[in-house]
Parts: sequence; C-alpha cells; structure tokens
Amino acid sequence: MGARKIELKSPADLDRMRRAGRLAATALRAVGRAVAPGVTTKELDRLAEKLIRDGGGIPTFLGYRGFTASICASINDEVVHGIPTVKRVLRPGDIVGIDIGATLGGFVGDTAATFPVGPISDEAQRLLKTTQESLNQGIAAMRVGNRLGDVSCAIQKTAEEQGYSVVRDFVGHGIGREMHEEPSVPNYGSAGTGVRLEPGLVLALEPMVNAGTWRVQLLKDGWTVVTEDGRWSAHFEHTVALTENGPEVLTVPDEERSGVH
Ligand code: MG
Repeated sequence: MGARKIELKSPADLDRMRRAGRLAATALRAVGRAVAPGVTTKELDRLAEKLIRDGGGIPTFLGYRGFTASICASINDEVVHGIPTVKRVLRPGDIVGIDIGATLGGFVGDTAATFPVGPISDEAQRLLKTTQESLNQGIAAMRVGNRLGDVSCAIQKTAEEQGYSVVRDFVGHGIGREMHEEPSVPNYGSAGTGVRLEPGLVLALEPMVNAGTWRVQLLKDGWTVVTEDGRWSAHFEHTVALTENGPEVLTVPDEERSGVH
C-alpha cells in the first residue's frame, strides 16, 4: 500500500470534485429527510439512486466489488456497509448511518451521516454529536504542514475523550478518480507522524465511533459490519480538499452552497 503514490489534485480536478461532492451531499441530505419510522432501507436506496442519476451522476457503490445498492444503510449496532433491503424497516429510536458515493465528471464524492429515526435516547444523541465533532476536529487538523497523524489523532482524541472507541478495521482514504486512493486515513494515530499534508490532497475522513469496544465483526452477508459487543455505532464522512487556505469540505449540499468557500 505504502508504495502507491498520493495523487494531488489540480484546481481543475477540484472543480470537478466540488460538483461530485455536491451531488453526493445533496442526495444524502434528501435521504436524511426521508428517514422516518416505517421506511425501509431499500426505499432510501431507491431515492438516493434516483437523485444521483437525475443529477447526471453514477452511484459509485452500485456494483462496487459486487455491492447491490447505491447506499450503505447501517442501523444501531451496524457500523458500516449495511445492505439496503425491503425487509429492514426503520423503527422509532433507531439510528441509521447512510453512506453515499456519487461519480460525476470522472470524480467521486463520498459522504455519510447518521440520522435519528424519530426521537432517540440521550445516549444515542451524544454518540451522534460526538462522532460529528470527531469529523469536524479531523477536518480542522487538515492544514498545510500538518501530518496525516495529526488528523487521525484529532479524530481519535475527540471520540475517546467522551468514553467512546474508534473502529480500527476500517479507515478513511484518499479519493479522486477512484473512491479509494492513497493514503489510508486511520481514525486513530499519533500527532506529528505520517506524510506531510500538501495543497491538492483530497481525503475522505470518516470516523466510525462505537459506544463500547472498537472491535467489530463481519456478518455472513459478507458486507455488514457490526460491533462485537452489540453496542451502537455512528459514522459521519466528508470528502475534504486541502487548499492553501486550509480545508474545504467538498460534500456540501446545494442548499448550503451560499457563502461556502
Ligand atoms: Mg469512504
């Protein structure tokens, strides 16, 4: 893995990545609004696929290593990579992580968020808030001259300070023409270590934060990752470019574009 090269993006590449990111984010926002008790994860998948295609894009996940849907939908103790089906019905009090990838103009946007299904417990609320904050702190650490370990460390520290753990077996990643590029971005690490961050670097930062142990298991479907102890997990992800001026989140929905750098 380390032998492969990190590909820095040109300003023209970044323009395309903004469009791909916007499409993925706009679809995620709409899917989030559709999350409600009684809705199946397949319905959410269909909605996402339609929005991505209507926007001129291709659902990146569909067909990826044989994956059969356009989103991953991971409920409660499911960490990531849940497969949407007509059998999974959202229930009040659940949390559902939705991960969406959109390819547009030859580049990929990758973004995820975990949504409450109706009112949720205070504990679940705190898990979502902390995971989102972990992502925000990771983004803030994406500064020219910082190292990759600074980003990983910021994510880990934010989660662990709240008594949570970060998943080790799945990591964030470089992103561009391919969904998964170099470098890998673990959600744990030491500040001051790893490659130096340069303008043009684009990363998908995606903390997966568990209420209990960081250990996970793969279900027999070959995709769904669950926590080993059955406690809940949350996942938030943005595609983020590093510019001379600092980090720029590329997965921003249409409605939030005004005033965005
Ligand atoms: Mg990703």
